[in-house]
Amino acid sequence: MKTSEIRQKFLSFFESRGHHIVPSSSLVPGNDPTLLFTNAGMVQFKDVFTGKETRPYKRATSSQRCVRAGGKHNDLENVGYTARHHTFFEMLGNFSFGDYFKREAIHNAWELLTTVYKLPAEKLWVTVYQEDDEAYDIWAREIGVPVERIVRIGDNKGARYASDNFWQMADTGPCGPCSEIFYDHGPEIWGGPPGSPEEDGDRYIEIWNLVFMQFERDAAGNMPSLPKPCVDTGMGLERIAAVLQHVHSNYGIDLFQALIKAAARETGASDLGDNSLKVIADHIRACSFLVVDGVIPGNEGRGYVLRRIVRRALRHGYKLGQSQPFFHRLVADLVAQMGSAYPELAKNQARVEQVLKQEEERFSETLEHGMKILDAALAGVPDKGVLDGQTLFTLYDTYGFPVDLTADICRERSIEVDLDGFELSMTRQREQARAAGKFKAAEGLRYQGAQTRFDGYEHVQGRGQVVALYVGG
Ligand code: ATP
Ligand code: MG
Ligand code: MG
Ligand code: MG
Repeated sequence: MKTSEIRQKFLSFFESRGHHIVPSSSLVPGNDPTLLFTNAGMVQFKDVFTGKETRPYKRATSSQRCVRAGGKHNDLENVGYTARHHTFFEMLGNFSFGDYFKREAIHNAWELLTTVYKLPAEKLWVTVYQEDDEAYDIWAREIGVPVERIVRIGDNKGARYASDNFWQMADTGPCGPCSEIFYDHGPEIWGGPPGSPEEDGDRYIEIWNLVFMQFERDAAGNMPSLPKPCVDTGMGLERIAAVLQHVHSNYGIDLFQALIKAAARETGASDLGDNSLKVIADHIRACSFLVVDGVIPGNEGRGYVLRRIVRRALRHGYKLGQSQPFFHRLVADLVAQMGSAYPELAKNQARVEQVLKQEEERFSETLEHGMKILDAALAGVPDKGVLDGQTLFTLYDTYGFPVDLTADICRERSIEVDLDGFELSMTRQREQARAAGKFKAAEGLRYQGAQTRFDGYEHVQGRGQVVALYVGG
C-alpha cells in the first residue's frame, strides 16, 4: 500500500464513521502565538476542545502536516539517529468534540489497524495510563489484547523512563490519560517494550497515541471532570507506512526512497543507505513546507529554525562531496511525491525553489572554508574531548555555522562542544562592539553640526543572527 493510499484509507475510514474531513492547517499556527510550529493534529482544534469555538461537526479527521524542530517538541537531534523521527511528518488523526469517548476511540483504532490495514494483532502492544482502569478494561476485555501486551505507564514524574501517559494542553485547561499503540518490528532490532529501560530503541515503535481529554485542570491544581470529554488521536503516517510496507525504518517507505534517490542523484552519492541522504530527504520536506507556509530563512524565531535546517542539509551534501547548490533541485521530486495531497506545495514550487536556492548560495560561500577551520580544530581534539567555545563562536559569527550544526558534526566524531565558552565569546564580542559604539557616539557629540541621525540601536547583520548593537545615547 502506497503512502498516499494509507492516508486516504485513514480519512475514508473515519469519514464512513461520521467524521468530517478537515484539511491540514498551516505549519504556522494561526491561533497560538506561543507555539513555534504546528506539532500535532489537534492544534487547529484547540479552541474547539476548550469550547471557545464551535464547529458545525462533532467529529473530525485530518492528515496534518507537523514540524517538531523547536520549542517543546524538538526531534531535530533525532533525525539521522532513529528510524522513526522526522522534523516534518504527517499526523493522521480523528477527533471527538464532546461526542464519543474512550470506548469508541479504542474500538475504531483497533478495527482500522486489524481489519482495514490488516496488521497481525499479535504484533501490537498497548499502553494505558497507570490509573486508567477504564481503558485497561476496554483493551483487555472488549478487544481481547492479552494482558502481557498491555502496559500501565505513569505520568513520568520522577520516572526513570521517557514515557508519559498523561497529556495536558497547557499548565491549566483540558488534560487526561493517553493510550498508545506500539508495533513490534521483531527481535532482530534492538529495543524493549514500552515502559522498559530499552524502550527508546527502535524495535517497539509507537504508531498511534489516543488522548482522552477527561479533566480540566484549574490554576489551583484541581481537576474536575469535563462535562463533555473529548478525544484527540495522532498516528504518524510515515510510521504506519513503514509497518504496512514491511520495512523497519520510515526511510524505507516509497515516499522516502524516492527522495533518497533524488538526493543521491543531486549529490553524486553512490551508497543509497548513507545516513546523510536520509537527513537530506527529511530536511527537504521540512524546509519546503515551511516556505510554503510563509516562513523565510532568517536570523530569528521560525526563520532561524528554517535556516538551521537548510544549513544542516547543505552540510550533509558537502559531506557527500557536493559543494555546489543542489538542495533546491529536490523540490520538484518532493512535488512529485506530495503535490497531489498538498496542492499548495505544487502551486508554490517555483517560489520554494527560489527561496532555498538563495539561502544555499549564501551559505555555500562560507561552508567550505568553515569546514576546513573546523576540521583543523577537531584534529587537535582527542576522542570524546570537547571543542572550545572560541572556535564555535568564530564558526557561528564569521562562517554562519549555527551552534547546533557544529555540535552535530562534533557528535558524529564523539566530541562535545563548550557551550559556556561559546556564550563567553559572544558576550566578549558584544562588549567590544558596545565600547566601539560609545566611542562613535562620543565623536558624534563633538560634531554637533553634522547631520548625523542615529536611532540608538543599530542592527548589524552577523552571519549567524542579528546582533542589536547599542551605539550610544
Ligand atoms: P515518540 O515517543 O516516538 O517520540 P511521541 O510520543 O513524541 O513519539 P506523540 O506526541 O504521541 O509522539 O505524537 C503522536 C504520533 O505522531 C506518534 O505516535 C507517532 O506515530 C507520530 N510522531 C511523533 N513524533 C514524530 C516524529 N518526530 N516523526 C514522525 N512521526 C512522529
Ligand atoms: Mg517524541
Ligand atoms: Mg512516545
Ligand atoms: Mg506519544
